[in-house]
Amino acid sequence: MTLAESVDRSVVSALPDHVSALVALRGEPGYERCTPWNVAVPVQPAAVVFATSPHHVAEAVRFAAAHGLRVTVQATGHGAIPVAADTILVQTSAMTDCVVDLPTRTARVGAGARWQHVLDAAAPHGLAPLCGSSPSVGVVGFLTGAGVGPLVRSVGVSSDYVRAFDVVTGAGELLHVTPEDHAELFWGLRGGKATLGIVTGVEIDLLPISEFYGGALYFDGADAAAVLGGWQQWSAGLPENINTSIAFQQLPPLPGVPEELAGRLTVAVRYTALDDFAEAAAMLAPMREAATPVLDTVGVLPYAAIGAVHADPVDPMPTYEEQVLLRELGSAAVDILLTAAGPGSASVQTIVEVRLLGGAMARQAPHPSAFCHRQAAYAVTIIGVPVGPAAELVPAQAGALARALQPWSTGGLLPNFAPAANAERMARVYDEDTRHWLAVLADRYDPAGVFKTGLVVRFSA
Ligand SMILES: Cc1cc2nc3c(=O)[nH]c(=O)nc-3n(C[C@H](O)[C@H](O)[C@H](O)COP(=O)(O)OP(=O)(O)OC[C@H]3O[C@@H](n4cnc5c(N)ncnc54)[C@H](O)[C@@H]3O)c2cc1C
Repeated sequence: MTLAESVDRSVVSALPDHVSALVALRGEPGYERCTPWNVAVPVQPAAVVFATSPHHVAEAVRFAAAHGLRVTVQATGHGAIPVAADTILVQTSAMTDCVVDLPTRTARVGAGARWQHVLDAAAPHGLAPLCGSSPSVGVVGFLTGAGVGPLVRSVGVSSDYVRAFDVVTGAGELLHVTPEDHAELFWGLRGGKATLGIVTGVEIDLLPISEFYGGALYFDGADAAAVLGGWQQWSAGLPENINTSIAFQQLPPLPGVPEELAGRLTVAVRYTALDDFAEAAAMLAPMREAATPVLDTVGVLPYAAIGAVHADPVDPMPTYEEQVLLRELGSAAVDILLTAAGPGSASVQTIVEVRLLGGAMARQAPHPSAFCHRQAAYAVTIIGVPVGPAAELVPAQAGALARALQPWSTGGLLPNFAPAANAERMARVYDEDTRHWLAVLADRYDPAGVFKTGLVVRFSA
C-alpha cells in the first residue's frame, strides 16, 4: 500500500476543526478550485485549505505535522507538480494584497498575488516590479525560483530585489526573514522554491522604470533560417541594456491570437531595452532587415505593457516543458534548432524559445542566494500541449531536442522551469553544495518532513 492510499480519511476529515480557513476535502464543493493553470498536472490532494491569512497556513502545517501528512502550496498552478492524497494543499490564491510604499519604492505582496496585481498597484506611480514574461504568474512562486524576466540582462534575477519574506516553517512557526534575521532562510528561499517553508508574503523593491522600448518582430516560418542565423550573430554582441529572445511558435487559431500568427509557423524576435530609446531602435535595425516581418509590435511602451513582449497565454491549458541551459550558441546548435523546430520539421511544439541571458544576471547580488545558474548564456525552453495525437510526441520530441543540444549544455535548469519532483531534475537545478545546504536547512526548519513533497530538496525522499 502506498503512503497516499494509507491516509485515513477520518484523520483528514478532522482538518476543518483545526484550521480557521475554508477547507474542502475530496469530493466536497470547492475542491475543484485546486485545479492548476497547467491542467495536464494531476493535483489531487487529501484536502485544500483556502488560506486567507498566514495563520491559516500555520494551522494547516501544524495539523499535518501532528498527523504524519504532507503539505504543499499552490497559488496559480502555472508551475504545478502532481499532488497526491497524502498531502494537504494550501491554496494561497486569495492572499492577493499588494501595498506600494512610495517613499521606499517597495511593495508588500501577499502569497497569492499575481504580477498583474503588483503592476496595477505600482505602474501608475512610474514604478516597476520585476516580473517574468507573463503577468498572470504568481509573485511568490516566481521569486522562490529566482525569476528570470524580460529585463534580466539589464537588472539581474528578480529575487535579488527581495527585501523580506514572511514564511511558515515546517514547525508551523511564522518567521520574518531578512538579510539580517534568519539569513540562512533568506539565502535559501531565493531559488529554493518551497523547500524551506510556505511564504505568506514578500517585500520587494520597485524600480523607477515607467517605459521601455520593446515588443516583438514576428516573421514567417519560411524565413526561420535567416532570422535565427541573423539573431545568433546579432544577439551575441548586444550591450546589457538590451534583452532579447527568439521563439519558433505554432499558435492555434484562438481568440486573442493575432490572425498573422494563428495556425502557422512563425518566428518571434522579442526585444526589451531601457535607457536611450533612439539607440535601442537603431540596435534592432539588423533584425528588422533579416526578413520582412508579418507583424511588428515594437515601440515605446508603458512598463504596464511588459506582458505584451512575450504575449504568453492567459487561460489555463495543458503544457509540457523541457529546458536546456547553454554555455554558447554556435552555428551547429542553430542548425539543430532549425532541424527540430523550423519549416518542414514536423515539430508539434507550441513554442521553442531561446533566451539570451548574461549581462547583470551573471553578477553576484549583494546577498548570495540558492540560485545556481548565473553563468548560463542562453536558455532553450521547449513547450508543447500534450493532448490527443501529440500526447506522446510532445515529450519525445522535446527530449530529443534537449539531447541534441547536450554538447553545449551547462547541465543546469532554471528552478522555475520544467517542474518535476524527481532527484534527477533537482540535481540539474542546484549544484551539489547548494543541494547540501538546502537539505541541511530543510532538516532544521522542517524536522517532521511535512514539506517533503514537490519541488523540495531533502537528504532522502
Ligand atoms: C506562461 C508562463 C510564463 C512564465 N514565464 C516565466 C519567466 O519569464 N521567468 C521565470 O523565471 N519563470 C517563468 N515561468 C515559470 C513560473 O515562474 C513558475 O512556474 C512559478 O513557479 C509559477 O508560480 P505560481 O505561483 O504562479 O505557480 P504555482 O504552480 O502555484 O506554484 C509553483 C511552485 O512555486 C512554489 N511556490 C508557490 N507559492 C509558494 C509559496 N507561497 N511559498 C513557497 N513556495 C511557493 C512551489 O514550489 C510551487 O509548487 C512561467 C510560467 C508560465 C506558465
